[in-house]
Amino acid sequence: MPATPESLESTLAECRDLIATRFAADESRGAAAVLLDDGTILTGTSPDFLNSSTTLCHEAEPYCAAFRLDRRILASVCLHRFEDGRHVVLSPCGVCRERLAGHGPDVLVAVPGSSDGTEVRWVTLREALPHYWLTVIPEEVPDWVRN
Ligand SMILES: [Zn+2]
Repeated sequence: MPATPESLESTLAECRDLIATRFAADESRGAAAVLLDDGTILTGTSPDFLNSSTTLCHEAEPYCAAFRLDRRILASVCLHRFEDGRHVVLSPCGVCRERLAGHGPDVLVAVPGSSDGTEVRWVTLREALPHYWLTVIPEEVPDWVRN
């Protein structure tokens, strides 16, 4: 099933809910959520590793779970909540864009929709990553990604 405005709003809500339920209200924390092709929403957040060089993106947990479940990701969002309760959208980092590439160029990613980052705008991965390296070797792109 394709992403809808309602399912994208639910994905955002689940991301906010994870931050609200997992962390104290005055903590500055983040989380991620993804929408799968069967309508499931998966969330995740990175632990506080003692060695900061081992830190993961919040998206890593739901991206791995999507693979475990053998589902395609339709949309991905990462939010950070400040101590004052303000939530900002963190667009996917370069590594997460690469991790999403296997889900096709039409996967939606949340990016800041306002200069303060508190509003969400959904763009396709193609828009977020316009010069993807694999596009010059189209025979390497899996068939299901092209369709
Ligand atoms: Zn990342």
